[in-house]
Amino acid sequence: MKKINLKEVKEKVKQAVQDANFIIDKDLKKLVQSCLPAEESPAGQEILNQILQNADIAFAEKLALCQDTGLAVFFVTMGEKLKLEYDGFKSLHDAISQGAREGYGEGYLRKSVCDPLSRKNSGDNTPVFIHWDVVAGDAFKITFMAKGGGAENMSALKMMPPSAGAQGIEDFVVDTVLKAGPNPCPPTIVGVGIGGNFETSALLAKKALLRQPVGSPHPEPLYADMEKRILERINKLGIGPMGLGGRTTSLAVHIVSHPCHIASFPVAVNLNCHSHRVVEIDF
Ligand code: SF4
Repeated sequence: MKKINLKEVKEKVKQAVQDANFIIDKDLKKLVQSCLPAEESPAGQEILNQILQNADIAFAEKLALCQDTGLAVFFVTMGEKLKLEYDGFKSLHDAISQGAREGYGEGYLRKSVCDPLSRKNSGDNTPVFIHWDVVAGDAFKITFMAKGGGAENMSALKMMPPSAGAQGIEDFVVDTVLKAGPNPCPPTIVGVGIGGNFETSALLAKKALLRQPVGSPHPEPLYADMEKRILERINKLGIGPMGLGGRTTSLAVHIVSHPCHIASFPVAVNLNCHSHRVVEIDF
């Protein structure tokens, strides 16, 4: 039976929080580089080059890739047979929270969590946001995402009639990106959740952003073709890097789908900015 020590969890989370904020995802970097030759707009080219220069500086100086270091969002896959060694922590949630607290504190990363109404900052970037998947066996994996507010704010969900079909999905996703304009700090990654119910479609869209390598196609041709079609339409909108015009509005479209009610057709879009910070933590 696999044993997981919570002190080790705390340490690995602390490291992941800082790695995500200081080191650009290598596949994201390749995507940005691959878009440069096709970017016709001089301002767009300049922004893409600045994104790459910024990443080099962040890595060399241990500075955040963006001042908005995000909400700390975690996706935990946990086997039912897993044994936890608490080592002074009250719970796995407690260990993850403490890792995030120390990671944001010691890394001098901005604390972005506040009460929704009073706007009083919690001061340590907690509470963290954890999505749990309990599975058979003794699997254990944590994925961390630092999710900036600008891109999150431009996300959308629509309960469509089932008759809307594939065309309805594609139009809704493209329209969401068009309405978002420069606000999600393009070039973006577009997470699309299709199906499920009201609340799960939003989570599917967020989980779609976790796909690695970023920009890789959906394993099923039907969805891979849809991702390609949507990306082509988005990159004809002319929004461009940081909204300054050009063809590189999005770097990738990732879809995740799930069965839904016969009367329902939920579709959610969760946008992520060029500061796409996702780190998988292995145990
Ligand atoms: S949307 Fe992304 S790039 Fe823009 S400010 Fe927020 S974290 Fe930074």
